[in-house]
Amino acid sequence: MTTALPEEFTAAVVEKFGHEVAIKDIDMPKPGPFQALVKVFTSGICHTDLHALEGDWPVKPEPPFVPGHEGIGEVIELGPGDHDVKVGDIVGNAWLWSACGTCEYCITGRETQCNLAEYGGYTQNGSFGQYMLVDTRYAARIPDGVDYLEAAPILCAGVTVYKGLKVSETRPGQFMVISGVGGLGHIAVQYAVAMGMRVIAVDVAEDKLALARKHGAEFTVNAREEDPGAAVQKYTNGGSHGILVTAVHEAAFGQALDMARRDGTIVFNGLPPGEFPASIFNIVFKSLTIRGSLVGTRQDLAEALDFFARGLIKPTVSSCELGEVNEVLERMRQGKIDGRVAIKY
Ligand code: NAD
Ligand code: ZN
Ligand code: ZN
Repeated sequence: MTTALPEEFTAAVVEKFGHEVAIKDIDMPKPGPFQALVKVFTSGICHTDLHALEGDWPVKPEPPFVPGHEGIGEVIELGPGDHDVKVGDIVGNAWLWSACGTCEYCITGRETQCNLAEYGGYTQNGSFGQYMLVDTRYAARIPDGVDYLEAAPILCAGVTVYKGLKVSETRPGQFMVISGVGGLGHIAVQYAVAMGMRVIAVDVAEDKLALARKHGAEFTVNAREEDPGAAVQKYTNGGSHGILVTAVHEAAFGQALDMARRDGTIVFNGLPPGEFPASIFNIVFKSLTIRGSLVGTRQDLAEALDFFARGLIKPTVSSCELGEVNEVLERMRQGKIDGRVAIKY
């Protein structure tokens, strides 16, 4: 027996940039071709949701919209088209909500760069609501038997740092600096440890550094108290081979160059609006590679979830209710969140 769906449901809606989200009822959407309607169990709150709310980036979403791209729930209705998920399956939305599937990026394993990509909780309504739509060709398949609250942050934070670490080409036994130990960074420490790297964590808050040590960082630096470049150069005897910047302050991006070893690779994940100073001489003379990295492909996400399902990654997650989203976003703005917060419906 199927129960009729309500015509409306409650969601957190961005109506105007720079204002609190409105907790209100919105219309139940109908799944279109290749789409599924999902009843959401939980959704992580990413700093990207805060950037979206503030209208921080040059490419902006269009209010009103529902943020959230770390949602997990159950498929309750399928739209037209062939699907390889069925009603009752547990799936997730992600930042890479869909892509065209045919452009030069899509057909060469670089679908996150697709010009026609849709972004969950940004160009498409996301998981800060009791129901959401996903494109079943791109939705995450959640492994059986996992804790959904802990799995949620893997859908963005996890896959992003996993991919970032991979493209750093840092090998087991080499040093990896994780700069910024928030939602992304505390998970990055764990992936780097699981990949056999020697992890150094940098943040501006002592509790974040304690969290990094708990997750396996062997050395930590408080960038508010000492120069991270000098501290890392000394500890590593010449600089870190890899550096992953997840921090939300532009100062961390310039400091990454000072922490690098000759021929090292710096990967930028963090997206604070702004710029950073970079010495051309340093980059050339030390033969540094600096690269940006945006979330990950469906294959990266499947791999990131597999690390998690095998027990190698355990995000630090606390839960909140949908009505508490504004309060959580304010704590995030102040850098006062331990790991991730996820909404529990
Ligand atoms: P968060 O708020 O949970 O964590 C940010 C961390 O940065 C905090 O621990 C904070 O103390 C730390 N920090 C602030 N200033 C610092 C400094 N000067 N030096 C070192 N650390 C500093 O945020 P999050 O959810 O982890 O997201 C981090 C950033 O990554 C955001 O800008 C977000 O938009 C971006 N992001 C990018 C991608 C991508 O695909 N590239 C994906 C997800 C998130
Ligand atoms: Zn995110
Ligand atoms: Zn494409």
